Amino acid sequence: MSVLAIIPAAGMGLRMGSGTPKQFLSLDGVPIFVHTLRKFSSASTVDMIYLGVRPEEMERVSQALVNEPLAKPVRVVAGGVTRHETVAKALDAAPPDTELVVVHDAVRPFVQLEMISRVVEAARRDGAAILGIPSVDTVKQVERQTIMGTLPRERIVLAQTPQAFRYTVLRDAFTRARTEGFVGTDESSLVERLGTNVTVLMGSDRNIKITKPSDLALARLYLAQEAETA
Ligand code: C5P
Repeated sequence: MSVLAIIPAAGMGLRMGSGTPKQFLSLDGVPIFVHTLRKFSSASTVDMIYLGVRPEEMERVSQALVNEPLAKPVRVVAGGVTRHETVAKALDAAPPDTELVVVHDAVRPFVQLEMISRVVEAARRDGAAILGIPSVDTVKQVERQTIMGTLPRERIVLAQTPQAFRYTVLRDAFTRARTEGFVGTDESSLVERLGTNVTVLMGSDRNIKITKPSDLALARLYLAQEAETA
């Protein structure tokens, strides 16, 4: 029985506006997805890693990993046109004796090892667990430019990854989503639709999803700070 990490890295990164998908941009000479892989490879709770990339990038990414000494086996798998589809395809390829699956965005390289172990242990106990942080802003529901309602801030969390699940729970959630034609932007939303409880653990402000050009300056600062404390 093993723990599989699925790292979706098949996005186009259009919001970055750089031409290069954000997961392939370099931070201190190392592509962002490699920084993320290094973290998961060092996580004692993780046994193997599936990295989902666009089919046309598979060769290039596999080559880039040849010279990267990672402690855990990494399999490069074909991604899909949405993040949901990328994770679904990786999950379809998971070994049948997988016990737990932990999904993490390739573009969140500042995940800490203790977060990975915390979320995996909670999923082993509860079946499903994610990280989230409180919202400092007030959140509005809108239609076009008109506000339809205000969500009470004390009942909001902003969902992060890693998100971890019992393999059977996640597989059932993807099967149900496929039947119902539902496409989610995270895995928890699929599991919630099964009626299964998902535990939320405290994430971190530093666990940013590198998405926009302004995130890169912050990412460089965090990387320098990680190097200082290493
Ligand atoms: O763009 P988004 O915020 O959804 O990206 C989150 C993660 O999902 C990124 O690591 C991105 O590479 C990945 N992704 C993917 N397949 C897609 C779209 C996004 O693996 N088709």
